[in-house]
Amino acid sequence: MTPQICARCQTTTKQPVVVAIGHGASGGGGTVYACPGQCADSFPKQRDPFEQTHPARRQR
Ligand SMILES: [Zn+2]
Repeated sequence: MTPQICARCQTTTKQPVVVAIGHGASGGGGTVYACPGQCADSFPKQRDPFEQTHPARRQR
């Protein structure tokens, strides 16, 4: 895996952890990385992007 910049501490980490996957919705997009441990833990766990765990809210 190629080194990535940690989104939390702006440090290059050689073992990046994917903490978020952008959908290009809010401008940024792309994948957000953090270094393992504290930084990764400080991000909320991202659920399956294709999750459909809110059957009651599928209507628009
Ligand atoms: Zn970090």
